[in-house]
Amino acid sequence: MKTYDCDLLVVGSGAGGMAAAITAKLHGLNVLVVEKEAVYGGTTARSGGWLWIPGNPLAAREGFRDSKEQGRTYLQAEAGNHFDAARVDAFLENGPKMVEFFEQKTAVEFALGPQFSDYHPNQPGAMTGGRSIVAAPYDGRELGAQIKALRPPLEEITFVGMMIGSGKELLHFFNVTRSVVSAAYVAKLLAKYLRDRALHGRAMRLTNGNALAGRLAKSAFDLGIPLWLEAPAGELLLDGDAVTGAVVNTKNGAVTVRAKKGVVLATGGFPHDVARRAKLYPHAPTGAEHWSPTPESNTGDGIRLAQRAVGATTADELPNAAAWVPISRPLRSDGTPGTFPHFIDRAKPGVIAVTKAGRRFVNEGNSYHDFCQALVKASKDLPGEICAWLIADHPTLRRYGLGHVKPFPVPLTHQIRSGYLKRGRSLAKLAAACGIDATAFETTVANYNRHAAKGEDPEFHKGSTAYNRYLGDPSVTPNPCLAPIQTGPFYAVQVVIGDLGSFAGLKTDAQARVLDGAGQPVPGLYAAGNDMASIMGGNYPGGGITLGPAMTFGYIAGRHAAGVEA
Ligand SMILES: Cc1cc2nc3c(=O)[nH]c(=O)nc-3n(C[C@H](O)[C@H](O)[C@H](O)COP(=O)(O)OP(=O)(O)OC[C@H]3O[C@@H](n4cnc5c(N)ncnc54)[C@H](O)[C@@H]3O)c2cc1C
Repeated sequence: MKTYDCDLLVVGSGAGGMAAAITAKLHGLNVLVVEKEAVYGGTTARSGGWLWIPGNPLAAREGFRDSKEQGRTYLQAEAGNHFDAARVDAFLENGPKMVEFFEQKTAVEFALGPQFSDYHPNQPGAMTGGRSIVAAPYDGRELGAQIKALRPPLEEITFVGMMIGSGKELLHFFNVTRSVVSAAYVAKLLAKYLRDRALHGRAMRLTNGNALAGRLAKSAFDLGIPLWLEAPAGELLLDGDAVTGAVVNTKNGAVTVRAKKGVVLATGGFPHDVARRAKLYPHAPTGAEHWSPTPESNTGDGIRLAQRAVGATTADELPNAAAWVPISRPLRSDGTPGTFPHFIDRAKPGVIAVTKAGRRFVNEGNSYHDFCQALVKASKDLPGEICAWLIADHPTLRRYGLGHVKPFPVPLTHQIRSGYLKRGRSLAKLAAACGIDATAFETTVANYNRHAAKGEDPEFHKGSTAYNRYLGDPSVTPNPCLAPIQTGPFYAVQVVIGDLGSFAGLKTDAQARVLDGAGQPVPGLYAAGNDMASIMGGNYPGGGITLGPAMTFGYIAGRHAAGVEA
């Protein structure tokens, strides 16, 4: 078998792996990154590209008052019994340093979400803005020929292939028929996109997660870090107790990669490991009752490698084994179902969610993670697949869209014909088209409408938190998340349970070292990203709580492997 020598082997090319690789290289190590797929970037390239970092330097520069103590108070309240003080402290200490390090030494740049509220703003220690930062848009041309191997964004969250940035950019799209400035802004972006497609066959203006993956890759390429594609790591090598490399299965045969300082596992957790899903996802008894927009290559390889080689254990005790998100399934052009994650639409005024029983079950403006937990609970005694229906009337649908259905002037015909969007002239007809209990549904809407007109929601308090309102429509008063559902036709989109990444990863210490079965750190074995157990205790405290820790613990692992104290 061929051999290859390096100091550090990084397995996986998402945010966790790339952060570790770049940090280690900048601290003098000779690094190799291996990636299972023919494209690099992992889930990271499909993501929103938000990182949650309390006390980050961008917020400090804008005058936000945040502190490690305040972040700790919040995370303690969020994680409850699963609060892991040592790892949380390492995250809070190193998160801001990681951001500064990447800003100063690499092609990675961020922008602040000044109004992006923590998801549970009423908890002690929460902030209503300033903790979430997003990768700044990036010109794909900077990557040269390497752009071809960057994993594309999730098709469903692009506009016919064009990436739309968060915040103001997204608002321009919503206002395209209402403001000349917005129309001009969108027209300019579209013209640029069409030109890029003609010239390069893809969007070259990268935003969100695609920008983050692109910026990380550019930084790695500039540093001369080799990246092997279609090269899954298959087995870890041990020297006594220490991990010293791995067998990597390349197109040209297996290679023994010897890594003096060890291996970083960053294979993106187990969202497509059906057996582990069956074991850990309460809504998916066979593992199949689940829809994930993550890449199918994320099959839990890193976790299995560590379990097999050193008897590592996983955080199966977490109350939620993954970050849940409601998913709808629009038909792709090839006829297969896509996966559209519902982040924003649920909070808009005039949108509610009901179960098949025709009843609301949650404050729809709450986070995707909380929404899904409530749905599973509300579906306990209901037959068939766990699902909910998002409901809107005609003016609401045309103003905001719903899921994959775009606002006016994009036509609805295709979405109705494909069955993705259900329509009914009356609420009863809509209920019949969806298989919802019509009598209960009509009562639900009548109750909701009675209060919504006054901006009130006594049952579920939609619009009551800063996070709800951040996603609402500020032009709607008195409550930016409430409007009656009254002008037909009426519409519905079905959502089921999916995930953005798994939480129940490998148990590690505060240096990102994987623990063996006896709870001792294994020399030379690190985990970052979703291969590492989440530090959020199974909860979802804010926008960016997987990528923030992924890059921070990647940074910690890279420094530790290089012998620098974290
Ligand atoms: C639509 C969407 C939006 C999201 N938005 C956000 C957000 O804004 N903020 C946030 O914090 N989180 C977000 N998430 C979640 C976030 O993207 C993931 O948690 C994160 O990207 C995981 O990073 P990672 O480095 O662990 O893994 P990944 O980015 O998935 O990278 C893992 C890589 O490892 C490779 N791999 C697998 N097995 C092997 C092997 N045996 N050998 C070599 N390589 C292997 C995979 O092919 C993959 O490329 C979002 C997720 C989705 C789907």
